[in-house]
Amino acid sequence: MPNASNSQTWSLPPLGANPSSAGAGTNPGSFACKPDLGGALAFSSPDTPGMPAPSDKTAWDFMPADWNYADGHWVAPAGFTPVTQLEHARLGSVTSEMQRVAEREGHLTPEQVRDEVAAGRMVIPANPVHLGYKLDPMAIGRASHTKINANMGASPVSSNTAEEVEKLHWAERWGADTVMDLSTGGDLDATREAIIRGSTVPIGTVPIYSMIIGRQIEDLDADMILSCLEHQAQQGVDYFTIHAGVLREHLTYVQKRLIGIVSRGGSMLAKWMIHHGEQNPMYTLWDDICQIMRRYDVTFSIGDGLRPGGLADATDHAQLAELSTLGELTERAWANGCQVMVEGPGHVPFDQIEYNMKLQRERCHGAPFYVLGPLVTDIFPGYDHITSCIGATAAGYHGAAMLCYVTPKEHLGLPKRDDVKQGVIAYKIAAHAADVALGIPGARDHDDELTKARAALNWEKHFELAYDSDTARAYHDEDLDVDTDFCAMCGHDWCSVRISKEIQEFASGKDDAYAQNQPKVTLALTPDQQEILEKRGVLSPEEIHRLASKTRTAMGAESGHQAACHSDRADDAEAEALQTSSL
Ligand code: SF4
Repeated sequence: MPNASNSQTWSLPPLGANPSSAGAGTNPGSFACKPDLGGALAFSSPDTPGMPAPSDKTAWDFMPADWNYADGHWVAPAGFTPVTQLEHARLGSVTSEMQRVAEREGHLTPEQVRDEVAAGRMVIPANPVHLGYKLDPMAIGRASHTKINANMGASPVSSNTAEEVEKLHWAERWGADTVMDLSTGGDLDATREAIIRGSTVPIGTVPIYSMIIGRQIEDLDADMILSCLEHQAQQGVDYFTIHAGVLREHLTYVQKRLIGIVSRGGSMLAKWMIHHGEQNPMYTLWDDICQIMRRYDVTFSIGDGLRPGGLADATDHAQLAELSTLGELTERAWANGCQVMVEGPGHVPFDQIEYNMKLQRERCHGAPFYVLGPLVTDIFPGYDHITSCIGATAAGYHGAAMLCYVTPKEHLGLPKRDDVKQGVIAYKIAAHAADVALGIPGARDHDDELTKARAALNWEKHFELAYDSDTARAYHDEDLDVDTDFCAMCGHDWCSVRISKEIQEFASGKDDAYAQNQPKVTLALTPDQQEILEKRGVLSPEEIHRLASKTRTAMGAESGHQAACHSDRADDAEAEALQTSSL
């Protein structure tokens, strides 16, 4: 007899209603805000009290001085030819790159992509030179899926072009959406060229690295800066990190920090400013730099040269003063027709992440935020792909549009191929978790398919749907290389999924012979399997696989077929008929 508490009804969470009603498989009654496509929020988390409100301005408020507004739309001066995706969008055109982005995003139309680009809330980093090779256009913005970047590049003490190209393919294989070539050693030009020619994803660089090869930072001048940018733009680089926001007047704030300036570009430009007693040349040359960026449609990734390098320095005066300058530079770049994203921290305590994301949204008028991590603790060197992936998930949920991966080698050495994989996977987890939580239509469909396969104890499907099928299969087969209705974690008698399945099979009428007082009996572990489990941790992986394969025969499985103990055999039509007649 149901008691009063059983009949209680539960209402949906108070926020968001159903933000993903247009897509199957996403969260009904999510705690995320209702989708606001075409508005300042797009897909967003609700604001904790005290968070800065979004800016009421967009890129439309920072138009080139010689454009005019007439009859409800903007008109470019006579003879003007649009080059950048932003300029095309401002004129109302849908480019082939916008079309491709809409195909890839699924929940966006080409016109929505255009409108987000025009508002400055989305960028499509696609240098036409790179489009002439193999670039597959993608978008970064809060209206689209959360993206991840993988850094690579030779250092003066390790790696070479061939190794970096191999890492590029490895990063693409595991799902990196963009790749940054941060080479500081070897043949920088050749490595960059090879990476651009070989990549289907946008390539970013930090051009100041190559500006100082063979010279001291103090010798850097305007000609060197502009000619280097022009050269890399001609090569086909899709986005540049330029640390123009570190100003002379900010340097005083750095003195109180535990670890000073940790950005390579930021520290070098600080040294230049102190040596010359002048303002940051990237800042003073900003409008000239914009002209080069516009000519090749290279997207700005305005660097955060004063990002915190430890929790103690997070959200300090230096970082926030620079963020305000990044907002000013964003406005000026938009007025020059350039696409802009803004870079962010770094090392940030978990509780400060939302504020950091929402402050950027206000100061930079919704320009996509591209964050490094952030790491939420400093004491786990060797595991910083995990410490930062936790921060990255929060950052994605609270507004970051792209997450720059961190590998286990962070702070310790140059990532090798497997480190790249570990970093990319950690960040795919962060980005996907944020997309599901934000209610991006369809984001959860893949999760639901895997849950169904897991519930059916359908191991083949389970492996197929796993993001890293190889690892999932290897971990499973280490102990039980056979298609059983359980795995080695709990074993047969304790497998709750198997028990649930049997209950459901009975309740649905699928199993004619099943009776509640006659539990269905399937084979549990054979002596061979028990032996394997007992020796777990003692045997080598090869020996475990050799022993594990013995279990297939022991369980009666023919090659390529399920074992007899596998109960996922009911015919749906038969089951439905049984249900209709029996229940
Ligand atoms: S044995 Fe345990 S871990 Fe394995 S499928 Fe069953 S419930 Fe899941």
